[in-house]
Order: sequence, then C-alpha cells, then structure tokens
Amino acid sequence: MEHVSFSPLSRLAICGGTHGNEMSGVYMVRELQKQKVDRKGSVSITTVLTNPRAVDACRRYVDTDLNRCFTDDLLSAPITDSTPYELRRACELNAQLGPKGSREAVDLLCDIHNTTANMGICVIFYSSNWIALHIYKYLQSKITSAPVRAIHLDTPSSEAYSLESVGKHGFAIEVGPQPNGVLRADIFNMVKEAVDLLIEWLQKFNSGSVFEGGKVEAFTPVRSVDYPRDPTTNGITAAIHPELQDNDYTLLHAGDPVFKSFSGETVEHEGEDLYPIFVNECAYYEKKIAFHLTKKITLTLPSISVKKD
Ligand SMILES: [Zn+2]
Repeated sequence: MEHVSFSPLSRLAICGGTHGNEMSGVYMVRELQKQKVDRKGSVSITTVLTNPRAVDACRRYVDTDLNRCFTDDLLSAPITDSTPYELRRACELNAQLGPKGSREAVDLLCDIHNTTANMGICVIFYSSNWIALHIYKYLQSKITSAPVRAIHLDTPSSEAYSLESVGKHGFAIEVGPQPNGVLRADIFNMVKEAVDLLIEWLQKFNSGSVFEGGKVEAFTPVRSVDYPRDPTTNGITAAIHPELQDNDYTLLHAGDPVFKSFSGETVEHEGEDLYPIFVNECAYYEKKIAFHLTKKITLTLPSISVKKD
C-alpha cells in the first residue's frame, strides 16, 4: 500500500468527564491540569473536563448523553431556552476544540471513557482514520498490562456523534472494567500509560519517524441485543448469562448461552458467529442494549510520516 504523509500533529486535546461518572478520565484530566502539563516537546496539550455539571453530580449526564451531541445537524441547530445542557456544552466544546471539519480544529482529540464491561483497553475510531489506527498499533505493541483492541465505527464524519469527531483526527480510549463512580488504580494506570504512549508517538511522528504500514484487526458493530423483556411491563426478565459475563470479545456461536432468565431458563445466541462487546455495560440499560455484536475485520494500513515542507 502507498505511503501517506500528514501535516504535523502539534495540537493535542485530552478530554475526560464526557460521561461524568467515568472516573479515569476525570482524574487523568485533573492530574494533568494540576501538574500544569500544557506542552511536551513538539506537542501542545489542551486538557478539558468536558461535562463539569455531570462530573459534579457524578452522573453520566445531566439532560442528555453529551457523547451523542456532535453530529453536524445537532451542532448547527439553534440554541434556545429549552436546549438541553449537554447540547449547549457540545457547541462550546466545538468552538473551543473545533469547529468540527475546519482548519482550526485541534490536530488530535483523545476522549477518555470507562466501561463497566471487561474490555481492557479499546481504541474507538471512525472510518479510515490512519492516525488513530497507527496510534492503536503502537499502544498494542507497548502495553502488556491488558489487551488493546480497536472498535471501528463505519460512520461518515457529518453523522459521527461523539466528541472525538471534533478533532482533525480523534479517537476515544475506552477502558474497563470499572464501575461508574469508582476509581481503580489498575484501570487508571492503563489510561495513564496509554496517554503517555500517545504523547510519545506524536513526538516521534512530528520529528520525522516513519511508521510502517501493515495489517491490524478491529471489531465493527453488526447489531445490538436487548435483554429479554416482559411483553406487558417491558421490564427485563433475564440477566447476562454467567458464561457470557466478562467474556467480551469471545466468539459467540449459535446455541451459546447469552441470558439466564429469572425463572431459570437459558437464552441462546442465534444466527451467525459474532463477537460480543460492552457486555452488561451499566449505561446501556437505558438504551435497551445488553451487548453489541461485532465482527472482526482486518484493515491494511499505509505507512505514514509527517509532511515535510
Ligand atoms: Zn463514556
């Protein structure tokens, strides 16, 4: 595959608290702010606690999920008295770190999240993002404390709904398992290691290192699965099966158990073989998602380096 060069990646934004009860990002950003880290070599660093009201309340959000507010349509909608807090906040963040799709946008935006699912470290990125994929490859080659995987969302930029889509390049780091409102040192250290390696990669990139291409694996969503429900009350009638719990990324075959009903029956996976992710994610109960099913894809990366003038 051909070689691709990019302008220097000198403006990095590190964000946390987009979901106010995901504590690794909140404390990572606070720590960087306390240490007044605003530059490392060739990289200027902006740190943002993105949803301060939700962080204060230790809730995912106050009015609506901030990490669904960054589509072109939502960012361009007029602000009125009834606009939810998070939509206002999305417009402020877009002005500060974007505007999305413009030359003024930060070069790279990394948003830090936690999941209650047993997913290790995941880099979540939108289509054909060679920078994010090369950083993912780098993290995967360096981090030994947990598996590092990539989740590929095949969504055009205009419809990309999460904060990282505001940067010229961007990705979310999703690390778990960690309960909402809880800090775990092992999880915090994974986030810290990933952020340190990200900055190290950017410095190497800006100083002219060539990053070789190659193949990387990623997981891409196929469909989501809701809990079994009572047709009258709509309440859930089963929990994640013990054999599926904590087994994110383990291939599910037809007939494998996925739910255990409260009356004792097992519900089995149906259809093609797929990989479950975000299994029993706390925040997805309200979205009526018990887990997502994904397929594994292989992406071929070009080699990349900084554009020389
Ligand atoms: Zn989150």
